[in-house]
Amino acid sequence: MTRPGKRLAVVGGGMLGMRVAERAAAAGRSVTLFESAPDLGGLASVWRLGDITWDKHYHVILPSDVRTLGLLDELGLRDLLLWRSVPAGCAADGAVHPATTPAQVLRLPFLGPVAKGRLGVTALRAAALRDPLSVEDVPVLDWLRRWSGDQATERFWEPLLRSKLGANVEAASATFIATTLKRLLGARRHGGGTGDGFGFVTGGYATVLGALATVMQARGVEVRLGEQVRSVRATHPGHDGTLTVETASGSHPQFDQVVVTAASPIAARLCPDLTEAERLRCTAVTYQGIVCLSLLLPRPLTDNYITYLTEPAPFTAVIDMSALVGREQLGGHGLVYLPRYVRSDDPVLGSPEAELLDQFLPALERIYPTFHRDDVLASGLSRVRLVLPVPTLGYSRRLPPVVTSVPGLYLASSALITDGTLNVNETLSVADGVLPRVLAA
Ligand SMILES: Cc1cc2nc3c(=O)[nH]c(=O)nc-3n(C[C@H](O)[C@H](O)[C@H](O)COP(=O)(O)OP(=O)(O)OC[C@H]3O[C@@H](n4cnc5c(N)ncnc54)[C@H](O)[C@@H]3O)c2cc1C
Repeated sequence: MTRPGKRLAVVGGGMLGMRVAERAAAAGRSVTLFESAPDLGGLASVWRLGDITWDKHYHVILPSDVRTLGLLDELGLRDLLLWRSVPAGCAADGAVHPATTPAQVLRLPFLGPVAKGRLGVTALRAAALRDPLSVEDVPVLDWLRRWSGDQATERFWEPLLRSKLGANVEAASATFIATTLKRLLGARRHGGGTGDGFGFVTGGYATVLGALATVMQARGVEVRLGEQVRSVRATHPGHDGTLTVETASGSHPQFDQVVVTAASPIAARLCPDLTEAERLRCTAVTYQGIVCLSLLLPRPLTDNYITYLTEPAPFTAVIDMSALVGREQLGGHGLVYLPRYVRSDDPVLGSPEAELLDQFLPALERIYPTFHRDDVLASGLSRVRLVLPVPTLGYSRRLPPVVTSVPGLYLASSALITDGTLNVNETLSVADGVLPRVLAA
């Protein structure tokens, strides 16, 4: 049973914090949401690039994203959801090869027939795994060698994994590849043989965030943007009672409950009353960061939404959003993302945009000879240090706490995702996990 009137603070205005705030307010809590950025959305936020507004990071929806689809229903946005089937490519040996249908994958030039057959076996094996956690004690490269053999692992899987996980690939469990393949194969099945079946909302995440913000406002959530939280402490340590939220602007409001949705190491820093064991669980999570360059172009670069790279490049993949959403969504332009996943302490996270453009654009010219760097109409660089919690061996047994030893303090973040990839659907599932505990207290 909920107790209306309790004051709840939510730290973080990404999809998780927004969802928790909106649901808790619907249940009668008096909610204040603190977001350090000037806008809502976190990793799903949007920005202006030249004369268009679109997502800072590329986002698609899958038919299996039942929670995301449910949210779109609640927000009255289902009619704005469009589904498309879009091909994929694979850059190798100086060319981009089609890599959508099984026949195309079998024609990829850099693997022998046995290795290609074993790729298929691996995909089927991953799809058949009912519980991705059943392989969380197996190192991902061992699991891939077992099912794909040495050649396919070394020439195909390992370059792909290293481009996403870097040196952390050695620490990652097979759960990572099992959840990733399950999601990709789901999209491919939905694509009906002509590509990956992906959905997007007209206007991109700006539409979703705008609608969610409107609902939060209607429910009376107080949203404090540009308000960085410095600490969350028990007002009277050692006693049940309120929690004080100290902000960078010098305010010290008190709340009955606080849900911190920032990445686990940040949560550990913000909450000094956590026990040493709780803090260690938060700081032990290994994160990958990202630098992601967005390029606004006069036209789409390619027909492929995603082009996988199996050769060394300064970025992880090429994502052509215009191939999926169409130029009409993008002011007649093309929109390409060049993400590079890195360790969270990689110095590249501090590199200026001009330096990254100098590295990335010549590599893009080599992959797509029709592209020239002078084509770029506008560019933007996003850098985020703590993005992707790496599922290391036995990860689900060492999760950060949700309910903490500090009365009224809850932690919820993507570090709690154990059997899925990082995506909004899983994020909403984390919200669904923490809400009953908050509302029952
Ligand atoms: C490159 C990329 C591609 C992706 N593609 C997809 C996709 O195709 N489909 C999909 O479904 N999902 C995708 N995702 C994942 C999706 O974006 C995330 O699942 C989701 O946005 C996570 O939301 P969150 O609220 O948990 O975290 P975040 O978005 O990180 O939100 C945390 C918020 O807390 C704020 N914060 C931190 N510290 C403080 C503080 N001290 N005080 C106040 N505020 C603070 C931050 O500013 C941030 O806004 C992608 C993500 C990336 C990076």
